[in-house]
Amino acid sequence: MAPAYKRILLKVSGEALAGDNSFGIEPPFLQGIAKQIAEVASTGVQIAIVVGGGNIFRGMAGAADGTDRVTADLMGMLGTMINALALSNAISRQGVRSKPYSAVSMPSVADTFTAREAKSALEDGMVVVLGGGTGNPFFTTDTASTLRAIELECDVVLKGTKVDGVYSDDPMKNPDATRYDAISFEDVLRQDLRVMDTAAFALARDNRMPIIVYALNDESGLAGVLSGTARSTRVG
Ligand code: UDP
Repeated sequence: MAPAYKRILLKVSGEALAGDNSFGIEPPFLQGIAKQIAEVASTGVQIAIVVGGGNIFRGMAGAADGTDRVTADLMGMLGTMINALALSNAISRQGVRSKPYSAVSMPSVADTFTAREAKSALEDGMVVVLGGGTGNPFFTTDTASTLRAIELECDVVLKGTKVDGVYSDDPMKNPDATRYDAISFEDVLRQDLRVMDTAAFALARDNRMPIIVYALNDESGLAGVLSGTARSTRVG
């Protein structure tokens, strides 16, 4: 069966790489994610990944501790580059070609992101791993995900979370909360549900870029999400 999507943007949060810890990279989790990505890439789906950095440094936390916000966000962006290098390398070790890009210029570490070059690498069958967020302070890697998905003309953004989709209320707090299989951008706003931060969500809505929310710990993994066997919510 032909894959349902030609090109996807996968958001991998820093938290997902830290596994059971709150800080750093846990090799089994890194390798597990890389394996799932390699499996999907080998079916011919083009994959661009935006990595977060919450397992290393978050600008907001640094600013709260007294570092100025622009400096703290630069530190956060550098953290995402550490994750991007680790993930791209782990994917390559699974036998799938992968290349890291940085939104912030650091030529001896990685090529600087341009949509033109990243697209050509995707067309060439490489998994591209995008670090450095948007390259600007005051943004998040969720915003980088929707932005890059639009720039790279992806079919969808996949956002793995702790829960298996978007619920009518917080499922951790309200046992009566119900999960949506699909929901429109407008209904997310009307019901004041949280899918991504405001800037990321507005960008997705304005450009009609669908978002699929799924559980990172789903047994069938990324392949299951793409084939529709894993539970998820499609926002769009
Ligand atoms: N960041 C930034 N601009 C961006 C993306 C990220 O300044 O476009 C910084 C920001 O300080 C953020 C940190 O990088 O706290 C890590 O990113 P994020 O919090 O999105 O990571 P995640 O929560 O997905 O692990």
